[in-house]
Amino acid sequence: MRKKVIAGNWKMNMTPTEAAALAERLKNGADTDKSDVIFCVPATDIYAVSQAVKGSNISVGAQNMFFEDNGAYTGEISANMLLDMGVRYVIIGHSERRELFAETNETVNKKVLKAFEKGIVPIMCVGESLVQREKAVTIEWIRMQVKVGLFGVKSDAAKKLIIAYEPIWAIGTGKTATSAQAQEVCSAIRAVLAEIYDADTAEATRVQYGGSVTGANAGELFGQPDIDGGLVGGASLKDDFIKIVNY
Ligand code: PEP
Repeated sequence: MRKKVIAGNWKMNMTPTEAAALAERLKNGADTDKSDVIFCVPATDIYAVSQAVKGSNISVGAQNMFFEDNGAYTGEISANMLLDMGVRYVIIGHSERRELFAETNETVNKKVLKAFEKGIVPIMCVGESLVQREKAVTIEWIRMQVKVGLFGVKSDAAKKLIIAYEPIWAIGTGKTATSAQAQEVCSAIRAVLAEIYDADTAEATRVQYGGSVTGANAGELFGQPDIDGGLVGGASLKDDFIKIVNY
């Protein structure tokens, strides 16, 4: 039985002071027995939010990391830097990073491998554009993203992985995939995991849905057999996040 995992992606919002106040406000209402709850915050907020959630079961995650250990990579953040701040989850390959910061399936793969090497759980994002959905290549596209993203990842690691299926057309648009659309792709992701690894691995890996999740639609989406929770953007900055966690 997979435990649900609900992660807030705070994106580039909140100063450390604001972030600590938000974390304080959200942490008390969230039921962490039913679901693992993660706040994926800007790197500059990790320390403040870690302090704010101390004593709760909420984890703090990062939104990105680089695949090298150290060196001349101005502006980048390494896995060791995140680990030293207590981070155990990192979003990798969010569509905004793919679109705005030229991340590819290959860089995603390098980051996923590095995260596992260091003991950080990657939340690997995949998702199709509206054109891809309209041209009916969604499943092929997602299969490719999963396969390349997981090159060289062993099944023991893949069992700990979180994959976030996030249709790009649903992110920040208020347009949510129907539960049937989301379930279809999440089930296809599980099928490709079974092909790459085996049925046990496919059963163990948690697959989230992300894209305009709210307190009003979370129950329907998370009730699907292959959807193990959500990656939540806009609503993770509001009290609605508590409703999502306690769906
Ligand atoms: C996201 O940023 O991962 C996301 C799903 O955003 P939103 O919930 O705002 O659509």
